[in-house]
Amino acid sequence: MLQNKFYKLLLIGCLLISTVSFSQTIPTPKEHFGFAIGDDYHLATYTQTEAYFKKLAATSKRVKLVEIGKTEEGRSQYMLVVSSPKNLENLEHYREISTKLAHAENLTDEQAHALAAEGKAVVWIDGGLHANETVGAHQLIETAYELSSRTDDETNKILDNVIVLLVHANPDGQELMSNWYMRKAVPEERSYNNWPRLFEKYAGHDNNRDFYMLNLKESQNMARQLYINWIPQIMYNHHQPAPAGAVVAGPPYRDPFNYVFDPLVITGIDAIGAAMGTRLDAEGKPGYTERSGSVYSTWFNGGLRTTTYFHNMIGLLTEITGSPTPTTIPLVPNRLIPNGATINPVTPRVWHFKYSIDYSISLNYAVLDYASRYRDQLLFNIYRMGKNSIEKGEKDYWSLLPSKIASITKLAEGETRTTKKGAVVADSSDEENPATVATKYYDSVMKNPALRDPRGYIITAAQADLPTTIRFLNCLIRTGIVVTKATASFTVEGKTYPAGSYIIKTNQAFRPHVIDMFEPQDHPNDFLYPGGPPIKPYDAAGWTLAYQMGVQFDRILNPFDAPTERIGYGELIVPKGTYIGNAKSAKGYLLDARANHSFTAANDLLKEGIEVFRTTEAIDGASLGSFYVNASAKTKSILDKDADSLGITINAIAKKPAGLKKLSPARIALWDIYGGSMPSGWVRYMMEQYHFQFDRIYAKELDSADLRSKYDVIIFPTGAIPAVGSGRGRLQPKPASIPEEYRHTLGRFSAEKTVPALKKFLEDGGNIVTIGTSTNLAYHLGLPVKDALTEIVDGTEKKLPGEKFYVPGTILRASVDSAAPAAWGMNATADVMFDESPVFKINTSAYANGSVKPLAWFASKKTLRSGWAWGQEYLQDGVAAFETTVGKGKLYAFGPEIIYRAQAYNTYKLLLNQLYK
Ligand SMILES: [Zn+2]
Repeated sequence: MLQNKFYKLLLIGCLLISTVSFSQTIPTPKEHFGFAIGDDYHLATYTQTEAYFKKLAATSKRVKLVEIGKTEEGRSQYMLVVSSPKNLENLEHYREISTKLAHAENLTDEQAHALAAEGKAVVWIDGGLHANETVGAHQLIETAYELSSRTDDETNKILDNVIVLLVHANPDGQELMSNWYMRKAVPEERSYNNWPRLFEKYAGHDNNRDFYMLNLKESQNMARQLYINWIPQIMYNHHQPAPAGAVVAGPPYRDPFNYVFDPLVITGIDAIGAAMGTRLDAEGKPGYTERSGSVYSTWFNGGLRTTTYFHNMIGLLTEITGSPTPTTIPLVPNRLIPNGATINPVTPRVWHFKYSIDYSISLNYAVLDYASRYRDQLLFNIYRMGKNSIEKGEKDYWSLLPSKIASITKLAEGETRTTKKGAVVADSSDEENPATVATKYYDSVMKNPALRDPRGYIITAAQADLPTTIRFLNCLIRTGIVVTKATASFTVEGKTYPAGSYIIKTNQAFRPHVIDMFEPQDHPNDFLYPGGPPIKPYDAAGWTLAYQMGVQFDRILNPFDAPTERIGYGELIVPKGTYIGNAKSAKGYLLDARANHSFTAANDLLKEGIEVFRTTEAIDGASLGSFYVNASAKTKSILDKDADSLGITINAIAKKPAGLKKLSPARIALWDIYGGSMPSGWVRYMMEQYHFQFDRIYAKELDSADLRSKYDVIIFPTGAIPAVGSGRGRLQPKPASIPEEYRHTLGRFSAEKTVPALKKFLEDGGNIVTIGTSTNLAYHLGLPVKDALTEIVDGTEKKLPGEKFYVPGTILRASVDSAAPAAWGMNATADVMFDESPVFKINTSAYANGSVKPLAWFASKKTLRSGWAWGQEYLQDGVAAFETTVGKGKLYAFGPEIIYRAQAYNTYKLLLNQLYK
């Protein structure tokens, strides 16, 4: 007892001592880490960083530490809220002003001005998203320290006027990468090359492609702060590297920007970009490059930075050079002539980590100083953008889009065009003599009622796959979109919708994001010069999420109303499962193959040893290939649980259907590689969501002789199988140079060893599913298919050049053989994600005798749904997917990205169907 008391006293004493010592001084990074941030050959781990953030919060009155959630590996993810102590006392008040102005609801300009005058600018700065870009996390540490401790006038002014949100974007990645780099005792031997696995559990570098989909925990954590809790006016996302010969690439960015943005987003990027470049120049820091000086554009949605544009925020990205191991700025002669893109070139020199940290601090301060000076303008402008959106959604409005302008040009074709000077214009691209056409052509497109922007979208509750639709709605809700739910059935434009249907109107602040998630992306025809090669978009050209997920919705162009209740900002919808029919007296239960989570339920049943069947005819309105189980107490209890957790609809039926096919779980292997494959990671994420059990398989095991004894199905996502004669894929480190635990993942594809092993696996009755470029396997095996995207030049067959055919990340409409078991649950047509994907032509006799069977194909000259499809007519009759028998096994080849970053829910079934025996 006494002893216990003694320990308690001792503990209290320790706490007091530590509080006293920390409240006196803010520890410098060097005091905490044992080295200064930016010292050569030194990286901080996340464990050390987390401890430092806690110390800052304990010792500085300017810092509030907020845990924003857990990461995929279970670490705490933090945001440091930094501002003056006075502001921190009224934090909730300023947060409310920020979100109120961003929502722009029920506010007059006058009220908005008053709130803007009262509020504080909110600026988000993150670091560490891409963990191999080590400047990111380290500039965040140094920035946190400087803002916590500096007492100069500028810092004080910033703290008075700005609430700074410092966010660690990828804790797991920093822990992995810093330990990897620091594992060598000799500093000069340290390198983060050849890191062993993805630096985000599932996505690696693709963690920056997840921000409208929000699959990953880290993305969800950050989205809640960005779109629900704070809605900062500025967000700054740090990356690496700079283009060779520059120190840092930053705003403004090259064209095209996305046409749905408010112009104030673009001019805001220009203004802050100018402030960033100016500050570096004033401090004698050369090497900033902008616009055409780098490849970054603002077209894409889905990046941590880019999704903010669709929410009226000024999103900033920099890509800086530097690493803890000293490097050099190389000599790139082209970059040394100053121009509008690179105003102040940097000359070749040795480059230390410290310089990159210093540049980053300057850039952060440039942004914060701007926010401090233009605080009220930033606050008012985000209101103005929100208000503009609301106003556009409340009237007939025609967005300016390349396809509309192309229609105007086409209508005016053949008209004699003259300039004001009276000269006949022959060439519309002649900038000196611009082509002008009669105004009536404008009116016939831009006043055409059929071409108006929608007033809103209705998503009927009568969906074939309601849980997937709710997943889509939750994507919208997580980024602050207003969704309403019908409280009774209603009729719009002659169509009646059941109660429980969802409505998303466009008269809301984040209208650009609403439009972007439902409408096609209308990418311009972007070429180096007329007739020249295409300029690649930085990421996808089209991604319309409603299409990718197969959501059934109606686009309403006229004003409409319905009895609805509003779902609160950020309140996720929880799908509710139901039984149709009499669940108690049922003979059995049917799970519709069109609903993805029917596969999850089937897997849960199989795992408990329950017999599961698939139907071979359509019954009770359910699709061909639906899952059937006999009724029993055990079955019912599993289905009850799944109904609750997955929201599935279960059809209770009175009679066992005829023609059932028994299903068995397959032993599944998913290809992966040392260092980690992102496409494989996304497939892994998806399969876990649907409760599939599987192993990961690496090159060494693939080359072994007894694959068939271990597996029934092997999946090769895109990037696993190189083209014939094109080498062996990613280089690998020497086994001795990496820890034992990762050695089994080493190895590379080999045409001599891997192909015969896979051939034998197929011949022995194994099945292989190939996706994207891994359909190369068909050519390695010499199957009777060929590339459909070719032309004959001087008697020889050649790949179509980019000048004729170019389809980067774009959604196309494919026809599907939905009667084939491989495509059960699919409709007769499907929107597929095409990303410079393979397209096939089946040898005539193989097609005729059915040995190669097309599963999906492009049926017309016009299959573009969203994005950019230059020369799309070449796709007509091309085969997108096929299956064929090899020995006793089957090879499935899917050209399009049927999983695509765990977004393409509608085409998941093309993989899921192949994962059973
Ligand atoms: Zn990056």
